[in-house]
Amino acid sequence: MSAVGRASSTVPVVVVWLDSLAGDLFREMYLKGELPNLDEYFSDGVFVERAITCFPTVSESAEGGIISGFFAGETNMLGERYFSRKYRRMMHYKFNAKAGEDFAPNLRDRTIDAMAGKCVGMGRIIHIAYEEVVDLRANHYEKTGSLKLVSRRIEVASRVALLEKPRLLFFTISADYISHVNGRTGGVVRDFVKKFDKEFPKLAEALDKAYGRENYAIFVFSDHGSANVSKHLDLPGLLEEYGFKPAGTDLIVDCSEANSAALSNGRRSGLVYFAHPEHGWRERPGYKRLRGYPLRGSNVDILKLLADEEGVSHVFAMRDERSIAVVSKDGEGIIEYDPATNKYRYRVVKGSDPLGYDKEPCWMSEEEWLEATNQEEYPDVPVQLFNMFKSENCGDVVLSAAEGWDFWEPWDIPYPVLLAAHGGLSKDEMTTFILAKGPGMKSGTIPYARLLDIFATVATYYNAKDVKSHAVERLLK
Ligand SMILES: [Zn+2]
Repeated sequence: MSAVGRASSTVPVVVVWLDSLAGDLFREMYLKGELPNLDEYFSDGVFVERAITCFPTVSESAEGGIISGFFAGETNMLGERYFSRKYRRMMHYKFNAKAGEDFAPNLRDRTIDAMAGKCVGMGRIIHIAYEEVVDLRANHYEKTGSLKLVSRRIEVASRVALLEKPRLLFFTISADYISHVNGRTGGVVRDFVKKFDKEFPKLAEALDKAYGRENYAIFVFSDHGSANVSKHLDLPGLLEEYGFKPAGTDLIVDCSEANSAALSNGRRSGLVYFAHPEHGWRERPGYKRLRGYPLRGSNVDILKLLADEEGVSHVFAMRDERSIAVVSKDGEGIIEYDPATNKYRYRVVKGSDPLGYDKEPCWMSEEEWLEATNQEEYPDVPVQLFNMFKSENCGDVVLSAAEGWDFWEPWDIPYPVLLAAHGGLSKDEMTTFILAKGPGMKSGTIPYARLLDIFATVATYYNAKDVKSHAVERLLK
């Protein structure tokens, strides 16, 4: 039983998560009529054309957002690895750490899993309050890029729905491997979408049987897109070139000796950490020292140094409790937050606008920022980057990779080729879509939303619409 309570009149919810699928590709195929089964099923449902996901554009942050309605820095879900100042080592969710344990304690009993009560998950990362189905066959298909994954997932999900009738059935069908290897809109990725469309009626039929036709809600979406890449910047190697002693990323071991660490996630976002020059890992260096860090006998502006790298497009660092610095090659900006009004302002302080917004600086709400930036090259940055630094696991510096670049270490590219990556701020990565249908839901197209808005609709279905979060309910009549 969750803290928000649970009523017997709640609507069962099915969440279908198409991992890493490029939003623009899906939009194009859907609107051109290439997906006849989805088109028919969702003809009286909602299509959100641009769903802005959570930065960093990796599955951890998106899942945290959807289950709680909070941004990555608040859910503490910044990617699959980070550097722990306390333990002085890399923490990695595949090896020595668990996402379910790092997930923000204050949000644990207010997730949609907790609200649903009886919940089954498949392919998920943040294991807190659901029964996990582990499908080894599907895992194998996923890791080898086999499209058999699609029919297998639909088959197993259908079986679980019929047998267990969970209040929340939340499963992934991953296009991650095939997008990395074939490029974000490669032929295989198109085949994946077509195959999903072809198999979808089997799932719908099973759900109709399990819950009763029109008695349940379903959401289909992608957690993030991806960006084409051809060049790699090795961040630990770079820190070493600058004269730092970076923690290695190829060995999970005590790194007290190191004075810096750089961990990328999704390959296009970077978390960079620095020990305090006098007090070591106990203390963060703080903004002033980041802009004048004693290194090899002089004071170095780390933010400028990183921003000048060809492979880096944006460098972010916390200036103080209420403001974040944005540094690019040609200019600098400041994101500010006013707790009294709950509004954010972004202004350029030097050179040209790092975000290219070309807007007069003014204080705007989260909703106004979403409206103003959802079609920009870097959507939703002021709101999301401000909140990102709330996590104790966040780097002192956050990086987003430049077009065509990623941050993966050369020894650790597990793919035969790597044509696309994600994690960064570009709209190719930040913009996805949502298809939804359920009792009381609108029909038609909604131009934009945040992906985490799904939380608000699901919470309403579970009679918990007043739970506080960033999510906005936009899908119900
Ligand atoms: Zn990936």
